[in-house]
Amino acid sequence: MFNRLKYYIKKLIRQGFTFKMILKKLQKSQYFSAKQLTELQNQKLRKIINHCYKNIPYYSELFDNLGLKPEDIKVKEDLEKLPFMDKFTVRDNFDKLIAKNKNRFFSVLGQTSGTTGTPLKLYRDYYSVNFENAAANRHYLSVVDLNSRKVTLRGQLIVPVEQQEPPFWEYNPADNELIMSSYHLSNKTAKIFIEKIKEFNPKIIFAYPSSAYLLAQHFSTLNEKLNLEAVFTSSEKLDESCRELIENTFNCKIYDWYGQAERVAAIGQCEKGTYHIIEDYSITETFQTENGLELVGTTLDNYIMPLLRYKTGDIIELSKEKCSCGRNFREVSKIQGREATYILITDGPKYVAFNHIPRGVNNIIEVQFVQEKINELIINIVAAPDFSKKDRDLFIKNTLEHTCPDLSIIINEVGQIPRGANGKFKSVINKLIGKQNEE
Ligand SMILES: [Zn+2]
Repeated sequence: MFNRLKYYIKKLIRQGFTFKMILKKLQKSQYFSAKQLTELQNQKLRKIINHCYKNIPYYSELFDNLGLKPEDIKVKEDLEKLPFMDKFTVRDNFDKLIAKNKNRFFSVLGQTSGTTGTPLKLYRDYYSVNFENAAANRHYLSVVDLNSRKVTLRGQLIVPVEQQEPPFWEYNPADNELIMSSYHLSNKTAKIFIEKIKEFNPKIIFAYPSSAYLLAQHFSTLNEKLNLEAVFTSSEKLDESCRELIENTFNCKIYDWYGQAERVAAIGQCEKGTYHIIEDYSITETFQTENGLELVGTTLDNYIMPLLRYKTGDIIELSKEKCSCGRNFREVSKIQGREATYILITDGPKYVAFNHIPRGVNNIIEVQFVQEKINELIINIVAAPDFSKKDRDLFIKNTLEHTCPDLSIIINEVGQIPRGANGKFKSVINKLIGKQNEE
């Protein structure tokens, strides 16, 4: 009973009046002219800059040191007067970045980690959570009816990882959604998953590229097919070979979304399949690095912990094409986002949401997962001086919960983690499944 109730409560909080109001505005602004979009961004920018200067100690100091007043930043081009910030800026100035006039109690403490290896905590206020939700919903609504039956196969740990018997899923009546555990999808359970999915008869799948790919592989190995209206992927890089298998198996298109826990920029595929920078989501800049154009974003809607000119670490390629969908959003031809992640266990390849593992563990500076042998995982950790046995035990417990209970884990505390080609940090290296983890 409570289980079902929690979904209704969650929906009420996340999709209430504020959500609906934002969604309505976003449905309009997606068809704004370039000029209207710029006006919208500049108006929101002036408001948040004033707030930053008045209520956020980190920015008041920064502005004072640079001899700037809020009036010096009126339009998005003025942002150049401010330096870039990144995850280290946030980590080192965490308390000073929280707005004095906002209550943490009404906020969500999110955590990043995966791509960069450095776990990072961030506050997001109620409005920002609703805004994110509305932006995602607008993306879905451009291609499907959200009342349709849907299957979600993402990072949620629905049942304990050691559980051998179904159900490996839970029904969310508020959204007509079957939430399945990616962690339990294996050669052994594939048939059970497929039968359940066919019985449920969804029109939509929400997944990580890697979990959708594994599911499609199982369908194809067992000669099964499914007719869907859309597969929505996000959070990892989607490579073309994966896309092809998923689209063929489920007889529909994938609509991919790129975002990050910092919520400073978003890129989504429109109904025509084009990747667009979502211009009414934030202010997005790019700057040239030796690896290509790096995406930099400025939050316009999170007032508890706004990030101005935040470097995402993700590299994109812009395109000069003009999509026929009618939106004046810049086009992106390539995103080098996070990689899909698997480990190999006796039972075959297994999807792992590595970015969930460090959650809740303190005193970790960087983490890297390396697999060299079946059923074994090497974890390189750069730890802060206060890293304790308790932190270490919790880290091992989290790893086992998100992988498989009999995995052998080797933890190496190291001074630093060497960078790969191009100086890029790789959070997961799988020497057994070379292809999937190489660019
Ligand atoms: Zn388009």
